[in-house]
Amino acid sequence: MKCELISVGTELLVGDTLNTNVQFLSRELSLLGIRVCFHTTVGDNPQRLEEAVRIAFERSDLIITTGGLGPTQDDLTKEVIAEIFGKKLVQDQKTKDDLMAYFANREFTMTPNNLKQTFIPEGAEILFNPCGTAPGILLREQGRIIIMLPGPPREMTRMFEEAVLPVLQQDHQQLVISRYYNLSDIGESAAEDRLLDLIDTQVNPTIATYAKMGEVLVRITANGHDENEINALLDHYEGIMLSRFEDHIFTFSKASLQETVAELLMTNSITLATAESCSGGLIAAQLTEQPGISKIFGFGLVTYSNEAKMKLLNVSKATLDTYGAVSAETASEMCKNLSALSGARLNVSVTGIAGPDGGSDEKPVGLVYIGICFDDQTEVYRYHFNGDRKVVQQKTANKVFHLIRK
Ligand code: ATP
Ligand code: MG
Repeated sequence: MKCELISVGTELLVGDTLNTNVQFLSRELSLLGIRVCFHTTVGDNPQRLEEAVRIAFERSDLIITTGGLGPTQDDLTKEVIAEIFGKKLVQDQKTKDDLMAYFANREFTMTPNNLKQTFIPEGAEILFNPCGTAPGILLREQGRIIIMLPGPPREMTRMFEEAVLPVLQQDHQQLVISRYYNLSDIGESAAEDRLLDLIDTQVNPTIATYAKMGEVLVRITANGHDENEINALLDHYEGIMLSRFEDHIFTFSKASLQETVAELLMTNSITLATAESCSGGLIAAQLTEQPGISKIFGFGLVTYSNEAKMKLLNVSKATLDTYGAVSAETASEMCKNLSALSGARLNVSVTGIAGPDGGSDEKPVGLVYIGICFDDQTEVYRYHFNGDRKVVQQKTANKVFHLIRK
């Protein structure tokens, strides 16, 4: 099956928006064994869009467009495609009801132009949009498939995974099963390096890595006709993953490190408090992004100055004068005193030099001490992270979550 992607939007042509949709779709389709042969980008211009679709229809079996499905005047994708194939646009009652409900639930007033999104080319299949208003559309014409997806990447990716993948799998007449392994405390290139022998020769299964905020998600996808055979193949690769990444796998799903750690603490009712210096509250902020965390997370302090460390955490002046704020001794005292203050089972302290200033030969930028006090047992860890201020802060937070998980 030959596939062509058409990205619609003037913002893509003039360089205002990076075309992440083609990257995502190309990768997903290739993993399914579908050959992506052309990428076309076209502005919000009906004549040129028509030209692009006509050319694609001549040479490809599957055409996927993204963008131009919204309510505004420049959103023209389905109008142009309906016209090419001589289809009338007809209002779909279910889509209209969904749209009304969407606005009612959010207590927004719907402007009349939104109703444009409820008109669908006759005979087309509707792809439900789980996180937006414009539905996707699937049209079958002369043995070919044309799929129209919305432009916003968040909506497009969910619609692809939930509504398009099942259709393509069915058309392809094969089962596709993916397993996920999320790794922490390892970079994408290091992770890929350990898989290179498999990636270089991959046919079935295929292996893809995705790096995000200190995590590397590995996806292994296998296809075939028999579910047991596919699972046996995936079991074999799971054995390889476990032997090569034993210490790094924190979850067998797409869940983030923060989500996984929060879940772990909540399930085991382990209470937690934090005292942060160089990370400025980032750890507390990422914890409080997790729903339900109030069950276990009482408070987080940001004790940035020496005065704050003394006043709020009772760190002794002697410790600060003798060893400095960025030291194992200070991290340890912050952590122990936090434990006395919070009464939580798990207490985390962080002190370091995020940079770009403030480093020295003895204490370089990126030096970070992390204290972990669990059930009155305190351990202090020393790290030297590379990167600018933001990166050092994020790496510190990631390391804390990695340590807590253990
Ligand atoms: P909307 O209902 O938001 O108008 P739409 O289907 O009409 O959705 P567009 O108006 O084309 O889509 O784009 C909406 C947003 O998605 C814009 O911010 C645009 O920059 C972004 N976007 C569109 N296409 C892509 C793409 N290929 N890659 C990344 N972002 C994109
Ligand atoms: Mg739009």
